[in-house]
Amino acid sequence: MARMMDANAQLAQPLTAEALMREMLIQSALENAAEAQDIGLPADRIIISCKVSSVQDLIKVYRDLGSRCDYPLHLGLTEAGMGSKGIVASTAALSVLMQEGIGDTIRISLTPEPGESRTKEVVVAQEILQTMGIRSFTPLVTACPGCGRTTSTFFQELAQKIQHYLRDQMPIWRNEYPGVENMSVAVMGCVVNGPGESKLANIGISLPGTGEVPVAPVFVDGEKTVTLKGEGIAEDFKLIVDEYVRTHYAEGGRLRQAVTSKLPKTIPLKAI
Ligand code: SF4
Repeated sequence: MARMMDANAQLAQPLTAEALMREMLIQSALENAAEAQDIGLPADRIIISCKVSSVQDLIKVYRDLGSRCDYPLHLGLTEAGMGSKGIVASTAALSVLMQEGIGDTIRISLTPEPGESRTKEVVVAQEILQTMGIRSFTPLVTACPGCGRTTSTFFQELAQKIQHYLRDQMPIWRNEYPGVENMSVAVMGCVVNGPGESKLANIGISLPGTGEVPVAPVFVDGEKTVTLKGEGIAEDFKLIVDEYVRTHYAEGGRLRQAVTSKLPKTIPLKAI
C-alpha cells in the first residue's frame, strides 16, 4: 500500500484515492495468487475473492480483475446490510457482473434480523441465479402485486403458502422428480386479469377479487382444467400441484403426460 501510494504520488496524473484503493486490491489479489503458485499450488486450485462493500466499487474491481486474469472469481458484496437493503445492494452488484459473464461462485452476505435464520442468504443467492435464468433450484411462484380489485390478503397468503410448500418439498422432489425446479406456478388476485398470467405458468390460479363470483379457475399448461371454490381452495390447489409434479416429472411422466393431454379438457386434473 505504501509502495503504491508513493509511486502514485510521483505520477503526472495520479489516480484518485478510490481508484488507487481498487488497484491495490487487485494487485494484492494477483500477487498473492502468483506467490501461491510459486510455492506449488496449482492454478486450478485457486479462486480469487476481492470483496468490497460499495456496489460501484465492486463492479469496477471485478470487471478489472476479470480482464486481467483467468482465475475463477468468487463474487460477493461484503457488509451488504440488513433486510431489503442488503438484498437489493447484492442483487444490483452481482447481476451486473454475472450478466457480463464475470463470476464463478457467489455469496450473499446479509445481516440477519434478530433470531432470523442464516439460510436466507442461500435462498437469496439461489433466487438471484434463478430469476436471471442462470440456474434453477426450486419452483418459483409468480404472484401479482394486488390492487383495488383485491380486498383480502387471501391471495397473498396462498402465494406464500405455496412458495413455502414448494421449497419444503424440494429435498424429496429433487431426487424423485428431476427437472421439477423449472416448474412455474402463478397465484393471481382476480379473475379479470389473473388468467392471462396463469396461462403462462405451468399451473396458475386466479382467486376471486372484490365483487367477483367466489370461484377460482385453474390453468394447467395454458388450459383451464378446473374451477375451485369453498374453504379448501388452498389445499385443493396443493393437490393439483402435487399431481402435476407426479405426472410431469416422475420417471415415465412424459408417457402419462402424453395420455392425459388427449383427455377432454373439462376433466379436473385431480380426477385423472
Ligand atoms: S391480477 Fe387482478 S388483482 Fe392482481 S394486480 Fe392485476 S388486476 Fe389487480
